[in-house]
Amino acid sequence: MRTVYVNGDYVSEEDAKVSVFDRGFLFADGVYEVTSVLDGKLVDFPGHCARLRRSLGELAMGFPMSDEDLLAIHRRLVVENQIQEGLIYLQVTRGVAERDFLFPPEETPRTVVLFTQAKPLIESASAARGQKVATVEDLRWSRCDIKTVQLLYPSMAKMEAQSRGADDAWLVREGEVTEGSSNNAYIVLEDGTIVTRDLSNVILSGITRRAVLKCARTLQMKVMERAFSVEEALMAVEAFTTSASGFVMPVVEIDGQKIGDGMPGPTAKHLREVYIAEMRKAAI
Ligand code: PMP
Repeated sequence: MRTVYVNGDYVSEEDAKVSVFDRGFLFADGVYEVTSVLDGKLVDFPGHCARLRRSLGELAMGFPMSDEDLLAIHRRLVVENQIQEGLIYLQVTRGVAERDFLFPPEETPRTVVLFTQAKPLIESASAARGQKVATVEDLRWSRCDIKTVQLLYPSMAKMEAQSRGADDAWLVREGEVTEGSSNNAYIVLEDGTIVTRDLSNVILSGITRRAVLKCARTLQMKVMERAFSVEEALMAVEAFTTSASGFVMPVVEIDGQKIGDGMPGPTAKHLREVYIAEMRKAAI
């Protein structure tokens, strides 16, 4: 039985409960982070803390816990649940209040929940074979830069992709790919240039994205942060996604059409190896 953190307590998962009046439940008024664990250590923890604080700030949600407090909780859950490889999910909501569209008083205690998921991340069958994606219209709201728990549309998009025989969805706004349902999206052009959507309110600034682009630039790969269309993606020599749970994940098919030779490409494979090696060195 897993140990889960709920508002200061470490409890068994069956006792981990929050109120029906929680604004996370009633309004999706909450933010989250997912940090990966490799060798029992946290990958890019400062990056996740920084993005959490940005998300909270954009929602005017004051949060009294320090990064050190959060680190201590993450570490205790890793130890108690004996996680060598997997994920830690953290959610902060505006707290419990009478149902009302207006925000409750600022002193309302936040709801803070963390739990672990043991999961092999490095030895991944998907990474070995590459994923198929289907394009789905991006009908999310226009603040995708905030990591809120309103994940219904991404969930619907993934279901739609699966019903079309794909593993995941690439979301498309005005003919251009924004990102994957829960990852950032990339293509590789004939001359080796890596193209990924530039940061704005229509995508989430991935923590993995930032680290992988840094690896790419260190390796002297050419990187362009700009929008690309579905047509351009279909003509690319390679495609891949990045996320904390998938690291660098090759994409081998878009809307039933093979990308390159339909096998994971060399750029994605190389970046996956380099990223994992770098993150293992820096994990805390
Ligand atoms: N975009 C979206 C919409 C996501 O949900 C995620 C994963 N949370 C990402 C991108 C990738 O972000 P990260 O690399 O920080 O996991």
